[in-house]
Amino acid sequence: MAIIPQPTLLQQSKTWQQALTEMITCPLTLLAKLDLCPQQLPWQWDPNFGLRVSESFVQRMQKGNPHDPLLRQVLSIKAESHLVNNYSSDPLKESEFNPVPGLLHKFESRVLFTFTSSCAIHCRYCFRRHFPYQNNNPGKKGWQQAFEYIEKHPQIIEVILSGGDPLMAQDDTIALFIKMLAKLPQIKLLRFHTRLPVVIPERICHSLIKVLSSSPIPIIFVYHINHPHEINQAIANGVAHLKASGITVLNQSVLLHGVNDDFDCLKKLSFALFDAGILPYYINLLDAVQGASHFAVSSNKAKMLQQALRNSLPGYLVPKFVQEIPHRSSKTPLDLVEN
Ligand code: SF4
Repeated sequence: MAIIPQPTLLQQSKTWQQALTEMITCPLTLLAKLDLCPQQLPWQWDPNFGLRVSESFVQRMQKGNPHDPLLRQVLSIKAESHLVNNYSSDPLKESEFNPVPGLLHKFESRVLFTFTSSCAIHCRYCFRRHFPYQNNNPGKKGWQQAFEYIEKHPQIIEVILSGGDPLMAQDDTIALFIKMLAKLPQIKLLRFHTRLPVVIPERICHSLIKVLSSSPIPIIFVYHINHPHEINQAIANGVAHLKASGITVLNQSVLLHGVNDDFDCLKKLSFALFDAGILPYYINLLDAVQGASHFAVSSNKAKMLQQALRNSLPGYLVPKFVQEIPHRSSKTPLDLVEN
């Protein structure tokens, strides 16, 4: 049945903070919930980047299916332990673009803040799974240093709050950040890259909407959804509230082998996003982070998928296929990526 956003009052049986306390962190518990035997999958314990997934996200997985595309995104498997050439702990060389703690300046007109050091889900393909958050978690005291850096670089017009997930911060912290940032007249845009409202839809709550809708800086949300099964009514309702508050809502995905690397899935994803009020923005090719090589899709196959989508969908439903290549001035369109 089609999902139609309901711009009614947000009806939530629990708070997002309560949902966070109910996170599933034990692979055996997860497999039992899905009626799967541990012997059916090559799963492993990961002491450094362990399982972390919400009850709500698990409810969207198909019971009894060891190949479920949502399960594949969160369950660590033995292939993660294979060391693979050309894969590294810092595939985008972010350590070279980190002038002050918590701030990354990779592209001329925009900077990225690692606003928090945690997420509500551990995505197995995350390119920051080895990121040194301990050196990049300045907190409120460190913001001033970052703001001084921005002032010295007047070409910066946009601030991006990104992973760790910025919505892991409390609403009063987000409100204070926006208030301080608004004192820099050069900043024209504030972008949130977030997966939290996908994993815990309750995160789009009245308190957050109040903070965001009073921002003097225009706000853009970029959700991170990889598969149509991730989208449900609660997500669509949250998007309706964001949009009613004047916030633009886009989506970026990562092209992942065994999750979304087929035409039907990507086509359904574009329609499901549109039905939920979200415009497809980017599909990123996998960043070569150590531990994620089993998710890689060749650029050749990505080009075929892109062309098939172009042939069958209106342009506004075809996300831009891109790859981030370190030291380039922007993301590189797939058409310019070598096979
Ligand atoms: S939500 Fe984003 S930053 Fe967090 S683990 Fe997933 S991909 Fe990485």
